[in-house]
Amino acid sequence: AKQDGRGIFRFFEPSLDEAARRRRRLELDLRIALKAGQFSLDFQPIYDLKAERIGGFEALLRWHHPERGLIPPTEFIPVAEDTGMIITIGEWVMREACRAAADWPPHVRVAVNVSPLQFRNSGFKTVVLQALAYSNIAPQRLEVEITESVFLDGEDIVVSLLHQLREMGVRVALDDFGTGYSSLSYLRSFPFDKIKIDKSFVDSVASDPSAAAIVRAIVDLAAALNMETTAEGVEDEDQLARLRGQGCSSIQGFLFSRPVSCDQVATLLGTGNER
Ligand code: C2E
Ligand code: CA
Ligand code: CA
Ligand code: CA
Repeated sequence: AKQDGRGIFRFFEPSLDEAARRRRRLELDLRIALKAGQFSLDFQPIYDLKAERIGGFEALLRWHHPERGLIPPTEFIPVAEDTGMIITIGEWVMREACRAAADWPPHVRVAVNVSPLQFRNSGFKTVVLQALAYSNIAPQRLEVEITESVFLDGEDIVVSLLHQLREMGVRVALDDFGTGYSSLSYLRSFPFDKIKIDKSFVDSVASDPSAAAIVRAIVDLAAALNMETTAEGVEDEDQLARLRGQGCSSIQGFLFSRPVSCDQVATLLGTGNER
């Protein structure tokens, strides 16, 4: 800020204005992104520690902005959620993710992130059914990832849809576990297939005894409830050794692989030469 006394105001006003303009711009650009073909999916492998092989991939949305380049989902997903655009964008993600999985070996699953608004939308079940029919993949190969925030506006409708999905054979994972306010109560409401242990616990699992104790408790709890566990954001060997020792089912993170493009999935699966 400048020295002339009005400096404070000159410092804050333009930046607030700029933030609002930037957000408005992002919203307008996002409106055309889908039709303009600016989205793609990356896939990050989930490595199964029991089978010692890749058990699936999580689809992660990428927006290639014509001027700004790659915009991270943490920046544009909240805008897509606020504006309701996440419903059509999410429908595209579901279809593309299932379509990609159709090229993979049948034991390899695809995990798709679903926002609360999208999940609670009345058309969601149809979106899933159509994506499965169109790609012709077995429902057991699709895993829907939701966070506990999906329950906030009323639990009954969500639990009912979760049961319907499971009856169809679709798997359901509880994402970012441990970061919410009452994660445990949701484990009672619905039999998830998997719990994804949030990166914040994994980060210090090898260095902080409290984090290690929490991870162990989550893994044991999941096992008692017949659920699998995936540790998210595994970045080094010490974390991996600890998670393996604690009986975690699978790991995901930069240590094994960063998210990769659809083309690189075949290479990771070692099927590159066979196709
Ligand atoms: P998430 O579902 O928790 O996804 C995991 C995020 O952690 C991804 O970030 C992934 O690239 C990142 N990650 C994985 N391993 C590591 C690691 O070892 N270290 C670090 N530092 N990061 C790691 P990404 O792709 O930027 O996605 C961020 C979030 O955006 C996702 O968090 C998810 O909440 C949301 N998102 C992404 N794609 C979609 C989508 O298609 N639909 C919806 N609704 N949300 C999505
Ligand atoms: Ca996720
Ligand atoms: Ca997560
Ligand atoms: Ca997250």
